[in-house]
Amino acid sequence: MNNEIELWEQVKSMLKASNDEITFNQTFAPITKIYKVQNNVIYLIVNTSLDSFRIKKFYLNKMNELLTQCAGTQMSFALITAQEVENQNKIQNQNSFVQPIQTTVIKKRNLRAEYTFSNFITGEANREAFTFSVKVAESPHVTINPFYIFGDVGLGKTHLMTAIGHYILENNPDTNVVYTTAQQFVEDFFKAKNKNQKNTALADEFDNYYRSADLLLVDDIQYLADRQGSQDEFFKLFEYLFENNKQIIVTSDRPASELNIMSRLKSRFSWGMQTDIKKPNQLLREAILRGKLKFLISDTDEVPANVITYIAENFDQNVRDLEGALRRFISYCVSFNIDFNYDNAVLALDAIISNSKNSNNSGTKLHIEKIKEIISNYFNINVKELSGPSRKQEYVYARQLTVYILKTKYNQTLTSIGSALGGRDHATISHAFDKIQDAINNDPNIKEDVDNLISTLDKQYKM
Ligand code: ADP
Ligand code: MG
Repeated sequence: MNNEIELWEQVKSMLKASNDEITFNQTFAPITKIYKVQNNVIYLIVNTSLDSFRIKKFYLNKMNELLTQCAGTQMSFALITAQEVENQNKIQNQNSFVQPIQTTVIKKRNLRAEYTFSNFITGEANREAFTFSVKVAESPHVTINPFYIFGDVGLGKTHLMTAIGHYILENNPDTNVVYTTAQQFVEDFFKAKNKNQKNTALADEFDNYYRSADLLLVDDIQYLADRQGSQDEFFKLFEYLFENNKQIIVTSDRPASELNIMSRLKSRFSWGMQTDIKKPNQLLREAILRGKLKFLISDTDEVPANVITYIAENFDQNVRDLEGALRRFISYCVSFNIDFNYDNAVLALDAIISNSKNSNNSGTKLHIEKIKEIISNYFNINVKELSGPSRKQEYVYARQLTVYILKTKYNQTLTSIGSALGGRDHATISHAFDKIQDAINNDPNIKEDVDNLISTLDKQYKM
């Protein structure tokens, strides 16, 4: 076994050299255990089935190549989730060669490294939110508690909230920063304190995890809507932390008064400070683009001002799309080995721009069918499987991305998406949407998958 672990470590260090730091830390670094080795196949234990699916889709071929190279003989990797290992153990009851697995319900989530104050560009739309954020970061739980940031999707709420976390940690590395999305909170709560289970160890773990926070960051609190049990639980947590002088920061897509949650919780949110982030104007969009460029190419002067103006003029709804357009432009020019100039920006982006303009006021069933077909092709599954009942992970993942894209790119309502996907109900669709939105914030590979799908649709789907 040691030998195989060494092999994996070798492959891992090669992956480290050839991937960016975030990808490496999120995708490969967490894999530290091997389940078994059989017929020259090394079974790596991954955390979730989504990890497994993603790695198979994007990296497995490369990993096998490296492994064969390191081993000097044909070998390959297979992936198995911790849950599957557990199930296997139960069945076989022979765990002699299995490494111990952690079976805790709550997965600690890390702050995204690049979401810092220094990478956040300010302008009219976000200056107030930024100023208050710095205040909170400089004196947590003293001036503004709770701190509530709201605004439309993709405008920098998660970025700012995370930046506060980084700042506080830098000044006081012992601070226990707990970041969670409201959706994750609901899932943790459900696993730990489900009415039907009387597992006090899990319930204790839940309490210890959340109550030990010095700084609690809860993203997208609107997700608590209509989830009474979770709201109660969150209320208790809030009271506990607040009384113990801990800082609480919450983000949301709307002001607290418009949340669909119990009024005592709403009123707590108005105790501190609420601030919103608005859509950036042209000036700020251009400044953000220049800021992002630093991360993409070494000599930012190579991109002329009229390109920046063009992109900023055409992607005016949210920063995530703005950034996506810039990345697409850069990778277009790099892959065709052409200059970063205006004409090439038009070539790279024109189709997307005119398409997104058209798509704002469309949305019939007929269009959805065509979109479903393109997405199914992309995933190499058939349309029936996309809409059908099967819970097989590749169908589920494709379905979740379909929901996300129908909603964000084509402005479809959750109800109409539900009926296009085999008559699924609103809650199911809403859950799928949140799942991907959350994943995009935390996993650059899923973000990449979404980008790829969108550019495939841009190419293949004409109204
Ligand atoms: P939200 O949480 O509001 O949906 P995010 O915080 O995830 O939005 O931001 C979306 C993307 O836009 C992120 O990549 C983030 O870094 C970037 N972004 C948003 N606002 C700014 C800004 N003012 N300066 C730099 N990057 C920004
Ligand atoms: Mg967010």
